[in-house]
Amino acid sequence: MTSENQPNPLDKPEAQPETQSRLRITEIFYSLQGESSFVGLPTVFIRLTGCPLRCGYCDTAYAFSGGDWVPMESIVEQVKTYNVKTVCVTGGEPLAQRSCGELLTLLCDEGYQVSLETSGSLDISGVDSRVHRIMDIKTPASGEESKNKYDNIQHLNQLDEVKFVLCDRADYEWSKNIIEQYALLDKAAVLFSPVHEGVAPAQLADWIIADQLNVRFQFQLHKFLWDNEPGR
Ligand code: SF4
Repeated sequence: MTSENQPNPLDKPEAQPETQSRLRITEIFYSLQGESSFVGLPTVFIRLTGCPLRCGYCDTAYAFSGGDWVPMESIVEQVKTYNVKTVCVTGGEPLAQRSCGELLTLLCDEGYQVSLETSGSLDISGVDSRVHRIMDIKTPASGEESKNKYDNIQHLNQLDEVKFVLCDRADYEWSKNIIEQYALLDKAAVLFSPVHEGVAPAQLADWIIADQLNVRFQFQLHKFLWDNEPGR
């Protein structure tokens, strides 16, 4: 993401039409999950278009705009063409589209194991309780720390995971403080991920070990396999 990628009004939730039965979709594809406790699992990804944030390290700026309006039933039918049990709804920021919740419930009703990747800047309390919410907390170096909606933390449960993408040592120290301040480890699993081509992964691993911090270290698997090629 570059600084010229300023938020586009079309990225905001109010930009969508009145209908609640379709969503603006950037891509639907089958791959291996690259993050979270589901890493490595064959998964269908539904990438919703639009995001009100502009993180400095964003790797999905192509989802900020464009996309196609797709009826809800067509989305589910596309998912069914794959032999898969897990579905990940991602973005962009999926919750920026009001009908996202309807899609999540439909997918759960169809028997899929459903995860939602969200920036942590929008209210997660209305998300279907069967969904695994993978919620970011944005660090200072992301440039979007001010967007964190800390009220969300009270709604986390043991299905959920909280992810910190770390750019440097200052981010690491800040994240440790947030974990302690909100007793995050009592509420959900916590993931620490080094930003791609940022802090050295081994360095982050050493910090976690030295502090005996009870978080899950993770790589973004898809970056190493396919260098974040869209649709992989
Ligand atoms: S929240 Fe996600 S999609 Fe939105 S700008 Fe940040 S990294 Fe990119």
